[in-house]
Amino acid sequence: MIDPRAEANNLGYKIRYVPHEVIKDYNACYNVIYHGKHIKPPAADKLGIPLNEIWISEKWEKYILHHELAEIKFRAQGYNAEEAHILAEMECIKLWRNDPMWREFIVEMHISDIENMASEIKGRSKTARKSLI
Ligand SMILES: [Zn+2]
Repeated sequence: MIDPRAEANNLGYKIRYVPHEVIKDYNACYNVIYHGKHIKPPAADKLGIPLNEIWISEKWEKYILHHELAEIKFRAQGYNAEEAHILAEMECIKLWRNDPMWREFIVEMHISDIENMASEIKGRSKTARKSLI
């Protein structure tokens, strides 16, 4: 039985559920010490996450928490942020591929990812157009 909340507790991490608006570009982020290693994605500074806290969107807490803990483990093993994210995602796919709620979560999450990326691209092309004028 997977209990990411108990695991986070054992590691001494404080989980903060923040409004979806605050963290919608990331869904979750952390700034933690894991087996003596300080592990945080660049967004942790931008968001101002205190040490040993994991911030998670109020939506979809269980799935996100497990993903973040898996990612922290892979970072501690020496994988970079992107590799650790992909390996954590693989682990979640293996665990929950047949879980209808997780599948809904993944679709929603990627919709918001793609929407953010698309508006960034559009914003950038606007700047590019301006610089051509
Ligand atoms: Zn990730």
